[in-house]
Amino acid sequence: MVEERAVSCVGPGLDAEQVATPPASVDTPDTKEMGRGAESEDSAAQQLSSRQPDASLPSSLSSPSASISSLAASLTESSLAHFPVRERFVAIPVDEAPVLPVGWVKVDFHMHTYGSGDAVTTDDEFGAAVEEADLDVVCITDHNAVRVAHILAAELDVRVIIGEEIKTHEGELIGLFLQERVAFGYPSAVAASMVREQGGLTYVPHPIGPRNYAMSTEAMFALIEEDLLDAIEVFNARNSLDVINRKAAAFATATGLPGGAGSDAHYPEEIGAAWLIMPDFDSPDDFLESMQEGQVVGTRHDPKMSVWRPRIIPSSSALFS
Ligand SMILES: [Zn+2]
Repeated sequence: MVEERAVSCVGPGLDAEQVATPPASVDTPDTKEMGRGAESEDSAAQQLSSRQPDASLPSSLSSPSASISSLAASLTESSLAHFPVRERFVAIPVDEAPVLPVGWVKVDFHMHTYGSGDAVTTDDEFGAAVEEADLDVVCITDHNAVRVAHILAAELDVRVIIGEEIKTHEGELIGLFLQERVAFGYPSAVAASMVREQGGLTYVPHPIGPRNYAMSTEAMFALIEEDLLDAIEVFNARNSLDVINRKAAAFATATGLPGGAGSDAHYPEEIGAAWLIMPDFDSPDDFLESMQEGQVVGTRHDPKMSVWRPRIIPSSSALFS
């Protein structure tokens, strides 16, 4: 099953071995022997590890053994604004992005194409923007559809994780490492179970904020209690206020969930607005482990600044397969 799941993150131009072999840890001495540029990249890794003050968090909150039900009772959406946040969840601005350590990759967790009813990015524009942003792995997460993600996984010279942003009763839920489309319009626990049944990971995008389909803390705690939530988005470049990302980061800090970052790009020029740098991975489980070491890089992007383009795109029904 793990091998099948790994296939969905392999794009053309990369053989399975490149993806299946985990790189050496960035902070072992071997890193220094990895060739040109390794020394500066190694010091970059050391700088990043200095941004990991998790030990400064209250032990009751940084411990995975903290009782979820007591957390659920004490954490309110307003109190999250004042809650401790892991420093690695605090975004380094894009124009100050650190050198990528050897064996690490740049991953955008949340991206849309013309396969989403509200996005217009074509295959060519998507490929060009991803190349310009120098991303290593892209999660294509169209609304309630996976067809274009499958097409681009075959076309692009970059690793693609097949994803879907699924509308549920309690808000939007992203499935990552999918094989096929998950139906929308169900309770979030049902949608999460359908993601898991095909070997995927569950990931809540833009939680807590004022958006129509943002999942609440209560809904996320309900998923956690059923062991159906793998990770959440702690930085979304389209969020209108820093405090919204901060609350998401505080929730991940309190619960111990891994945090991801994404552009939520609906236009080509939004690609490159956010990503997570993290150790490379070779399976969904390994992906989750690497996320725990990841550092958020991102700068909020106002979607209103995007350029309107006239487009003829396929109808949504043509994409639901
Ligand atoms: Zn989205």
